[in-house]
Amino acid sequence: MDNLTLPKDKLPEMLAEIAAKFILVGPKEETGFTEFQELEDPKDINLDYLLSRVPPKSLVFQQTETLFTFTKGKNAKVETPKVDPGKRIVFGIRPCDARGYSLINPVFEGKNEGDYKDPFYIMRRNRSTLIGLSCNEPDVNCFCTSFGDSPANTEFLDLLFTDIGDAFYIDVITKKGEELIESLSKIFSNASAEERKARVNVEETAKGTILRHMDTDGAPEKLSKMFNHKYWEQVAMRCIGCGICTYLCPTCHCFDMQDESTLKQGGRIRVWDSCMNPEYTHHASGHNPRPTRMNRVRNRVYHKFNYFPKNDDVFGCTGCGRCIDYCPVNIDIIDIINDIQELEL
Ligand code: SF4
Ligand code: SF4
Repeated sequence: MDNLTLPKDKLPEMLAEIAAKFILVGPKEETGFTEFQELEDPKDINLDYLLSRVPPKSLVFQQTETLFTFTKGKNAKVETPKVDPGKRIVFGIRPCDARGYSLINPVFEGKNEGDYKDPFYIMRRNRSTLIGLSCNEPDVNCFCTSFGDSPANTEFLDLLFTDIGDAFYIDVITKKGEELIESLSKIFSNASAEERKARVNVEETAKGTILRHMDTDGAPEKLSKMFNHKYWEQVAMRCIGCGICTYLCPTCHCFDMQDESTLKQGGRIRVWDSCMNPEYTHHASGHNPRPTRMNRVRNRVYHKFNYFPKNDDVFGCTGCGRCIDYCPVNIDIIDIINDIQELEL
């Protein structure tokens, strides 16, 4: 299918039709923050936003998930909940958050034959069609371009909408995206060469407004040589170990399992966890291989900029800037990587 356009004033009609036929999920403002939520009324969508506080990874990797329930006693049984969220159309995902999906996807879908495949994640992922929204005006801490990406990246999206003035330019990326378009009223037009040019201009202009740059060149190798450097103590002195940087990161995917039960019944629950918590690596023996905050701060940086590149040949960061925006003590991941590049070893 060719790329399309949709007049901007037709967007409410499109969203209303999606909400009538499927489950519409999109950014909605509540208590001062914008989060991805199911929208019973499509008018509740808030497109005047840049990034949701919680990344939309929460739509496929839930903050809490019951893996199974059990009853005890003579007729004890174990039951796995049936997870089918219905066919969801997620509108308004930013390209950096879609890249976040591409980084956590191998963890849950497996990379190789025989790897564990998480049925909860896979069901939610398969039942979701992802519609991206390019960022015309990136924010002060956006730095997706440091990874060769752009505010109009199409990776891991089914469709991408770009605001080109009076209309949205629509990149039709996957079969799933094509099927969604085909299931909707014929309110779309084929994009002209001029509209294509407008989309490219929007992307280039947006790229040009990104002011911050992380110097990732050779960063994994530099990190390999400075595991015991005193620099990590300096960063850790400021960290209060709140874990916000990991909970709000679109690429962080650690979880804990907890059994919760009463006398007769219970369940095994998977919950988001954070490597910034001391208990995260606390062994049953009492030993903790990352006993200090320095160990944990260092691990967060190494996981994204040394272990990810070593294992998967990719950085574990999309440049969304959330960990910078929300860190209560202004620890800045761009500064950390740029600082280490300057360090004499
Ligand atoms: S958000 Fe900041 S203070 Fe909180 S754990 Fe992360 S680096 Fe430390
Ligand atoms: S490390 Fe920070 S900037 Fe990078 S993806 Fe995670 S939250 Fe975004």
